[in-house]
Amino acid sequence: MHSQSLSASSMTPKIRVGIGQDSHRFLPADSAKPCIIAGLIFNDCPGLSADSDGDVVFHAICNAITSITGVPILGGMAIDLCHKDGITDSQVYLERAFATLKNIRIEHLALTIEAKRPRMQARIEEMRERVASVLSLSVSQVGITATSGDGLTDFGCGDGLQCFCVLTTAEYLQ
Ligand SMILES: [Zn+2]
Repeated sequence: MHSQSLSASSMTPKIRVGIGQDSHRFLPADSAKPCIIAGLIFNDCPGLSADSDGDVVFHAICNAITSITGVPILGGMAIDLCHKDGITDSQVYLERAFATLKNIRIEHLALTIEAKRPRMQARIEEMRERVASVLSLSVSQVGITATSGDGLTDFGCGDGLQCFCVLTTAEYLQ
């Protein structure tokens, strides 16, 4: 009986829930920079004001990972990647963030984007697939919603994009 409960407890994962947020303002309409969200290009709106591509989805996930590991990614290793190595593709930052999780496993990612533009509803599945593929997850482990929030904030009015991420992880301790 005693040994059974011991082995059961050794199989119980350590669960952690992280949270991350990111936001960026749209550049003027005549800007040549593409709008990139979750690694996808959206042609029906200008790019985002940021040193990088300004991908709020990938940045929010990076921040959620930092909230679990304590390792700074944005404001940390991404600054060097951007300014020293000239890497502006946020997928690279996310891949580096993912590596800092080591044996902490992602169970689920919940993302919510607040924006008036671009039109994202038709591409939600494509966004889920891209996030899942970067993080070696199945699509069922990535949930994404997008809302204009009834236009109550600057994001809902179309001035920029905001994304929140809730990240659930499990670590199976030996
Ligand atoms: Zn950002």
